[in-house]
Amino acid sequence: MSNTPSIVRTVEKLGRVSIPIEIRERFDLLGKNHVEMSLEGDTIVLTKQTPGCLFCGADSNTETYRGKMICRECLDKLSKKTGDVSGK
Ligand SMILES: [Zn+2]
Repeated sequence: MSNTPSIVRTVEKLGRVSIPIEIRERFDLLGKNHVEMSLEGDTIVLTKQTPGCLFCGADSNTETYRGKMICRECLDKLSKKTGDVSGK
């Protein structure tokens, strides 16, 4: 985004920062969306979270665990894998 002007915002007391409308429109963040914050060196990266299974992207039959979505099918495969203590 080096060709777009940077926008300065104030971080409020409780850590809130509002995302400018230009950015929200561009990334379709106009409804109630989840964003993920991560660090890349000294930079804070904000990534739009798309609803869907963390592993396969399925958007139906999902459950949330620790803020991540996972579908029943992947959950079953995962539990079978972790349930297999023989190391096979
Ligand atoms: Zn899945």
